[in-house]
Amino acid sequence: MNLKDKIASIPDFPKKGIMFRDITPILADPQAMNYTTEQIADFAKKVNADLIVAPEARGFFFGTPAAMEANIGFAPVRKPGKLPRETISATYELEYGSDELQMHADAIHKGQRVLIVDDLLATGGTVEAIQKLVEQQGAKVVGFAFVIELDDLKGRDRFKDIPVFSLTHYK
Ligand code: IMP
Repeated sequence: MNLKDKIASIPDFPKKGIMFRDITPILADPQAMNYTTEQIADFAKKVNADLIVAPEARGFFFGTPAAMEANIGFAPVRKPGKLPRETISATYELEYGSDELQMHADAIHKGQRVLIVDDLLATGGTVEAIQKLVEQQGAKVVGFAFVIELDDLKGRDRFKDIPVFSLTHYK
């Protein structure tokens, strides 16, 4: 399966100078979706994860089916104000300003082995914030999995001791 055939590249979105990598053609193709799900689930098994954690919205597309395939649980990460019960928060820096992510306080248990999944790794700021949420709960991040990695941004360098798995690579 050449997954790159199912990733669209849109110049100047959401602003001029940015090449947006769009995974929606993967969702439209059950074979591509199956392949992606299996690859992430295999990695989850390899690192012996017992929970997948992923951020809204595109992380959900891949994190949830991979968790089902690997027969482990899933916990969502959301923007503030979306989760109905007690939450924990982590902030992270953006190019201009900062942003916040939340999880339910009881979503992760002490000692769990967590795989963090998202559609795309750029600078790594988003998944690093999620790593903080996981570690705040006394659990351990045992891997990161992405459909797309933007190699030039060197996001994986933030996670030297934790395996990072990406199905495709772009500059
Ligand atoms: P990071 O925090 O810099 O690693 O950025 C990764 C986050 O930005 C992920 O949650 C992605 O969904 C989103 N993102 C950044 N660039 C793109 C893109 O080209 N396509 C899709 N998502 C992107």
